[in-house]
Amino acid sequence: MEGTAASPGIAIGSAFLLFGESGQAIGANLGADDHDIELNRFYQALNEALDDIEMLQKKVQEKIGKKEAHIFSFQKDIIAEEEFSEKVTHFIKEEGLSAEKAVQRVIRQYAAELANSEDTYIKVDENDIKDIGERLINLLQGQDIKLDISQNNIIIVARELSPSQIARLDPKKVLGLVTAEGSSTSHSAILANSMGLPAVVGIGEENLARISQGDTLIVDGKEGQVYLNPPRDMISDYRKKQSLMLWHNQELNKYRDKKLIRADGSRLYVSGNIGNSSEALTVKQNGGEGIGLFRTEFLYLGREKAPDEEEQLQAFAKALEHFPEDPVIIRTMDIGGDKEIPGLNLPAEENPFLGYRAIRVCLDNRDYFKVQLRAILRAAARGEVKLMYPMISSLEEVRSANTILREARGELDAAGKEYGELDVGIMIEIPAAIAMARELSREVDFFSLGTNDLIQYAVAVDRSNERIKDLHTPFHPGVLRMITRTVMAAKEAGIKVYMCGEAAGEKLLLPFWLGLGIDQLSMSPGRILEAKSILSEWLNRDTREVIEEVLAKSTTAEIQYYLSRLFHDNSRSPVKSKQGN
Ligand code: PEP
Ligand code: MG
Repeated sequence: MEGTAASPGIAIGSAFLLFGESGQAIGANLGADDHDIELNRFYQALNEALDDIEMLQKKVQEKIGKKEAHIFSFQKDIIAEEEFSEKVTHFIKEEGLSAEKAVQRVIRQYAAELANSEDTYIKVDENDIKDIGERLINLLQGQDIKLDISQNNIIIVARELSPSQIARLDPKKVLGLVTAEGSSTSHSAILANSMGLPAVVGIGEENLARISQGDTLIVDGKEGQVYLNPPRDMISDYRKKQSLMLWHNQELNKYRDKKLIRADGSRLYVSGNIGNSSEALTVKQNGGEGIGLFRTEFLYLGREKAPDEEEQLQAFAKALEHFPEDPVIIRTMDIGGDKEIPGLNLPAEENPFLGYRAIRVCLDNRDYFKVQLRAILRAAARGEVKLMYPMISSLEEVRSANTILREARGELDAAGKEYGELDVGIMIEIPAAIAMARELSREVDFFSLGTNDLIQYAVAVDRSNERIKDLHTPFHPGVLRMITRTVMAAKEAGIKVYMCGEAAGEKLLLPFWLGLGIDQLSMSPGRILEAKSILSEWLNRDTREVIEEVLAKSTTAEIQYYLSRLFHDNSRSPVKSKQGN
């Protein structure tokens, strides 16, 4: 089965089917052994939902009014009724459905009954019942994925996995991931990369339906292939490939401590992207020279309460321990988009990537934001920390964020808490910021190119949409020109310029980044050693020619073809690629 290579490596194990968005089942239903697990999950989610609703009801009553809060008592009454639980139990026990699917069935029944009802008063509440169903299903999907001990060596198979679901997986038991939807730059894929889990995404609905619970799978996360119940000799071939990869990685180890110094004496740092502090060690082990992107929002995922100042400080301090000499760039939380966060109760949006996201949320919730800023400032007393704001689109945003940062410093002064000085930079991932690069460069110490979003916004292509994934490419001439402009603006202003989107580790573009004079490339830990080995080869070659030729090419396919020839890489032939334009 062909999909998109989302996280490299080979995994061989048995399929463990999870359930997709809105509780629709994927593949086979559950066996009798799983009934109790599913019933427990249902009751746990039910209790959580009842608590949540009560809390919401109180909030609405205080802030808006009693009448408006009434809707919640209606929702609460429905799911608290014995009849509701009995029906869900019936579907789990008698029909072998998962908790999500059983809830969905009952909710559909209720909604249909209400829709057919003559009573206009009750009809209004059809959406409320769907709403409560969604709430229950979300709670179920957010639950820890509990796998009993006998279920080691499993490969999670799902329609889609949210970043918070992946964050909760136990890497000792889970060997790999396969999803029907998704793309290589979605946050789920990024997380799988940083956890070192081989993943293939976007295999499609039809393929997904072919996989049953317990089937043997080979996941080739480098080639984007999944093999269903493969013959024995194929399994042994893949085991050999696994060992070969291990050997290759050991070979690359010689680049671990290599520093990349250009002919002009400038240094190119190759560092790692992480989502939690324990990944800092993986970056170190893979030869990473510091952290170029600490995605702090991952600290918030998969939990009910946001981490407080102390907890965040500890996480940052732990990452710093591994890098006494190299910088750790901490990005303030980039929430929203495809990442949900506890404590703020952000409503669902029609266009989350263009919506209430990242710095926009933080500027609107100063106190929430300041907790994190204080933790970052305090971490700066323990090592070389740099602070970075995501999704900056205007000067005002940088200035407002810096005002809040000053307030956070003032609060630490007042509390007598120690903190350190730090460089402050912004992510360049919105085209308007590139048009304003000269002005923005006067406000900050560095830029960091976030190519995942930059491509999404520049080419108008949803980074997680499987159908248009070929359009999400850093080889687009427009994207390369935007990146070049950003670097030039930074150089002119005398500030540093980094790149931390997935394109930073794109093999064919490494000489381009090297020649442009980018100061740091930050990528998933698993890509660092190979990038260092390629960059080492290019260090003494004339990269000017590459840059000029690439920029002169007028189509994506031409650029890719040219670069693939330089690398003798036939797999990138434009004939095979759909990326020509
Ligand atoms: C990016 O957009 O390229 C980036 C590094 O940030 P994220 O992937 O977390 O949005
Ligand atoms: Mg981004």
